[in-house]
Amino acid sequence: MKKISVIIPKSVPVLHPDSDTREKEKRPRSWQAELSHAVTDVAELLRLTGNRIEDILPVNPKALQFPLRVPHPYIQRIVPGDINDPLLRQVLPVSLEAEQKPGYITDPLDEASTNPQPGIIHKYAGRVLLILTGSCAINCRYCFRRHFAYKENRNSKKQWLRALDYIRNDQSITEVIYSGGDPLLNSDKNLDYLTRAIADISHVKRLRIHTRLPVVIPQRITPGLLKSLAGNRLKIAMVVHINHHNEIDKRVKTALKPLRDHDITLLNQSVLLKGINDRAALLTRLSEALYDAGVLPYYLHLLDKVDGAAHFDISQTEAQKLVGRIAANLPGYLVPKLVTETPGQVAKTPLLPIL
Ligand code: SF4
Repeated sequence: MKKISVIIPKSVPVLHPDSDTREKEKRPRSWQAELSHAVTDVAELLRLTGNRIEDILPVNPKALQFPLRVPHPYIQRIVPGDINDPLLRQVLPVSLEAEQKPGYITDPLDEASTNPQPGIIHKYAGRVLLILTGSCAINCRYCFRRHFAYKENRNSKKQWLRALDYIRNDQSITEVIYSGGDPLLNSDKNLDYLTRAIADISHVKRLRIHTRLPVVIPQRITPGLLKSLAGNRLKIAMVVHINHHNEIDKRVKTALKPLRDHDITLLNQSVLLKGINDRAALLTRLSEALYDAGVLPYYLHLLDKVDGAAHFDISQTEAQKLVGRIAANLPGYLVPKLVTETPGQVAKTPLLPIL
């Protein structure tokens, strides 16, 4: 694998975080407290992961226009002293993000043209996405919405009421998707209000929630959240976002279980990322770990060509061969669908494995 600018040789000695600090950070805090303690400084992230700021190249400030943000429960799963750790590399800004590459643009899915009113993206037939917040608990460096105009799509009660009117007035909408940012950053009370209002619209049958919060801050799955989501007539699916098996620890598994107990279908989507999960053995292990946690592999996305993330991209043919290799090792229900998204298409485009 070609090394990126941040990489240091394994032989360079690294500092290990002092055990007191790590111990303190292991104590459970509320999800809101975890959010407010999220690490936003490169040097601090490196210190907590047993690496040194001196060992990486200075990060171009342009890369930091998409800020660093990582909560502690996620940091605790990073292998100390390994600058190449696959979880660390998903969140550590590098100067390569500041390099403009032909074909990589700020809105690769042309969502601006499917944003009929603030807070709504209507690009798929029968389904509508509600942008419930512009923030996330973690900032993933490859995120296709890293340049999204969240300010214009700011969350407000007035906006939610307008979104509800939009859904009421379009009988073709059978599924509402909570998206963002991370929709579970909303309070249980607000989610309860919105979910009940959607359940009152008779043509909506399903609710889907796209979130990375149960993975990066497992404490987010509170009894209040379960109450706000369950207990209505909607069929609910939660699509979590896990790219590497090391993201699934005991706390994540424990957090996911009550969701299943409340009849919420758990699915996973991953992004295929160079240097992070682009090996058949890793993808196989991810599928097995997901199933063990009660989650079905759903989508494996080719990277959306967003400006700042070109260094994570792998070619379509390479991706199809990889999925071919995992299909040879796993039962069909553990093989995620390889997909890509093309602006203007009413659904994602499946890509067949090359066997
Ligand atoms: S959690 Fe999802 S929306 Fe948020 S930065 Fe990561 S990939 Fe993007």
